[in-house]
Order: sequence, then C-alpha cells, then structure tokens
Amino acid sequence: MVRDPNRLSIAVQKSGRLSDESIALLKRCGIRFAFSKDQLFCYGENLPIDLLLVRDDDIPQLLRDNVCDLGIVGQNVAQEYALSNALRNGSSAYTELRRLDFGYCRLAIAIPEALPFADLDDLNGRRIATTYPAITRRFLDENGLSAEIVSLSGSVEIAPSLGTADAIADIVSSGATLRANKLREVATVVQSSAVMLQSAKPMSAANREFLDRLLLRIDGALQVKESKYVMLHAPRNAVEAISRLIPGAETPSILPLAGHPDKVALHAVCTETVLWEHLESLKEAGASSILVLPVEKMLL
Ligand code: ATP
Ligand code: ZN
Repeated sequence: MVRDPNRLSIAVQKSGRLSDESIALLKRCGIRFAFSKDQLFCYGENLPIDLLLVRDDDIPQLLRDNVCDLGIVGQNVAQEYALSNALRNGSSAYTELRRLDFGYCRLAIAIPEALPFADLDDLNGRRIATTYPAITRRFLDENGLSAEIVSLSGSVEIAPSLGTADAIADIVSSGATLRANKLREVATVVQSSAVMLQSAKPMSAANREFLDRLLLRIDGALQVKESKYVMLHAPRNAVEAISRLIPGAETPSILPLAGHPDKVALHAVCTETVLWEHLESLKEAGASSILVLPVEKMLL
C-alpha cells in the first residue's frame, strides 16, 4: 500500500470490542466511509481520511512503522507495547492524543475462589498467567512482589484449572468470565479505555492542519454525548439561584419573556448528565416550562 501524504490514515480494530465504537466516533465527526468490514482499507468519501482495519494488537507497531498516522486502541494494548518496547530500546512509538469514552475495562489479578487471600503479599512465589507480561511485571515490581509470570497468548482464564498457573492477570469488564471460571478478582493492575494515538513520525503540514480539525470534532463529539440544551422560565429574582442548579452549565443566556416583565427565559448548555432530580430542584427554586433537548453537534 502506498501512503498518500495528503490523507490521514487511522488504524482501527477490524472486528472486536472496539470496532463499532471507533467507527461510530469517526462517523459522528462527519466522516463518511465507503467500506465493507471484510476489506483491509477503506476511503473517507467526503474528507481526506482513510481507515486501516487491523487486529488491535498490531496497531502500536503500525504506528511505530509509520504505516498509519493515527490509531484507536485500548490503553492496555498500547501500554504493554510501550513497556515491552522500552525494555528493548527506550524509544516511544506513539503519543496519546485523546482518551475516548468507550472500551472501559481493567487489567486485574484473579485467583481461584478456593485460594485464601489476605493481601498482595500472598502473590509472592505464585505463578501468574497473562497476555500482558510487561504491565504485570511493572505492577509486581512497584509492589515489591516476587511472582513468576507465565506469558500466554490467549485463554488465560483457564490456566489455573489446567495447573499452568496459580493466578491470572487478565482484562475484566463485568467480571462474568471470571465468575464462570470460578476465579475472584483480588487486585486491579491498571484501568483502561480506548485511546487515540499518533505516530511519533512528523506528518505533512496539510495533514497536521486536518488533524487539528479532526481533534476539535472529536472533542465536540465526546462532549456532545452527555450534553443537553436546557430551556426554562424563571422569575427574575431567582435567576442566580436557578443558574447554579443547572449541572455543568456555562453562563446561561437570559432572554426577556414577552408579556411577563417579572420573568425571563433562561437557556443553557449543560455538559453533564441532566437527571430528573435536577429538574425537580429547578422547579422547587421557581423554574417552570423546563425543556431538556439533546445536542446534536458542538464545536468548542
Ligand atoms: P483482535 O482480533 O483484534 O486481536 P481481541 O480479541 O484481542 O481482538 P477484543 O476482545 O475485541 O480483542 O478487545 C479489544 C479491546 O477491548 C481490549 O484490548 C480492551 O482494551 C477492550 N475491552 C473492553 N472490555 C473488554 C473485556 N471485557 N474483555 C476484553 N477486552 C475488553
Ligand atoms: Zn487483540
């Protein structure tokens, strides 16, 4: 594949837990793609952005090799790559541009339910199976623990019942897989979410400019998910108290209300979730005709 220096290329997971949300985020940024998921590569139709659909584990190396400009991957995968890579030559493959609001999980240590556990020292002398040996090693070192790491390429959760390890360090979100394998979580090694990474190699001025625009749109798209537009009527003398009750609102706009000199209309963008409880306290403070509307796009 020959890279077009005037188009941004973004590596995203082809098929897995991050795929749909990665593509949905880029679509919310206004990019239309012509693609089918069985392709490796797809073109942005309306903007100079192309996608590379790959295995998530390959993304840090693709960034390092400058095969793509950007990548969306779990922090867990990125950190593992950075740590094991740093062990080899100390250079970094990427910079983290944005934390995204999906792919939440944690790397956790779990042991068989029947095994007694008082504190982390109980891991001393144990064998811990993981596909994240570098992150797990750092955790053990930071906590002064001496456990053996059994590096596996998959199916970590069955290692204790196979007798190849005493404990595991694996990715957990709900904990259902652990319970199904009669394991219990005893420590969190690291929290993770999806991140947008940038290759350390310099990009063309045109791409740099386009990346800045894309980042503004990503910030807007992340912000917009929670944001609501609130409109209400308020007695003039309660405007200050009512403004304070609107969650995450910037300075509200105050508009005259025709035929009601003692009242105003108050409009505000809320950057936090608006709950029923918020509306109830607004009403108690004197607000009426309260409307909460979704925000479709936002450029900050
Ligand atoms: P690939 O075929 O691309 O290598 P995979 O099987 O390694 O896929 P997935 O299971 O799709 O990867 O997970 C991708 C990422 O999703 C993980 O690296 C992690 O950042 C995130 N994630 C969120 N929740 C979970 C979970 N419960 N289990 C595993 N990964 C999760
Ligand atoms: Zn993977």
